[in-house]
Amino acid sequence: MCSIGGGTDIEIEERVKGRSYRCKECGERFKAVGKHPVCPSCQSEDVEEA
Ligand SMILES: [Zn+2]
Repeated sequence: MCSIGGGTDIEIEERVKGRSYRCKECGERFKAVGKHPVCPSCQSEDVEEA
């Protein structure tokens, strides 16, 4: 039983570059990806890059 070449290319590539933001509404600090980060705490879009 040869199990080589099973097509399981598991490349751990968690290079999701999350940027750090801080919510101006509640002061929550979080990391988000994308151009429109939303506070996970209060769902506010009024955040600044921290
Ligand atoms: Zn917030």
